Amino acid sequence: MTIALYPGSFDPVTYGHLDIATRATSLFNELVIGICDAPRKHLLFTTEERVQLVREAVGHLPNVRVEPYSGLTIEFARKIKARVIVRGLRMGSDFEREFEMAMMNKKLAPEIELACFMASLEYEFISSHLLKEVAELGGSISCLVPEHVAEALTRKFSLEALER
Ligand code: ADP
Repeated sequence: MTIALYPGSFDPVTYGHLDIATRATSLFNELVIGICDAPRKHLLFTTEERVQLVREAVGHLPNVRVEPYSGLTIEFARKIKARVIVRGLRMGSDFEREFEMAMMNKKLAPEIELACFMASLEYEFISSHLLKEVAELGGSISCLVPEHVAEALTRKFSLEALER
């Protein structure tokens, strides 16, 4: 029984993340999507909101669960007995960051393996960061995220505009 952990901020979840999660589920018995409670990052959605958005997006995948966590990713991986950490790689910059993180994690937790999935061609250009910018400026993001995520983004930016 191999449990894999797919950790990240998922602020918010995109079709790029979902593609990696879907592909990973076919290789592992159970996939836990770990939503990092990262107080130092300036995230748009709260941890609870990000968890809910991902849960709704993966409801059709039977061997996936979504859990929030805080602290070191490898400690959470150990807690849930994950043998593998799953990450997605888009071009260039992702690799350097992932490589550095993988080296550190290997030092801290040599028993945990890293499995990197190459981004699919059609999702390669999607990042949560860029999509938030597009959504904030009123661009259409319906081909980048599931409908409920697009709605959540619209709500969030309308609220922020009202508060300004
Ligand atoms: P983090 O803040 O940990 O980078 P993200 O939510 O941005 O969290 O991403 C989680 C993982 O998903 C990372 O490994 C990232 O490279 C990967 N990822 C993000 N967007 C895509 C995409 N469009 N295609 C493939 N992988 C992606």
